[in-house]
Amino acid sequence: MAVPARRTSKAKKAKRRTHYKLTIQGLNPCPNCGELKRSHHVCANCGQYDGSEVVAKQA
Ligand SMILES: [Zn+2]
Repeated sequence: MAVPARRTSKAKKAKRRTHYKLTIQGLNPCPNCGELKRSHHVCANCGQYDGSEVVAKQA
């Protein structure tokens, strides 16, 4: 069985882990206003869903 020739350095390990990022699941930018909205939900900012369908509008 193959064994690593040398121990991975702290720097190498840290550089690899720069790609590990936390993401908020189910939160995407609204295609209309760009505000973060929950997917499959009406946008709380502009009240639109699936393109032009206006579901709720408040002043
Ligand atoms: Zn919106």
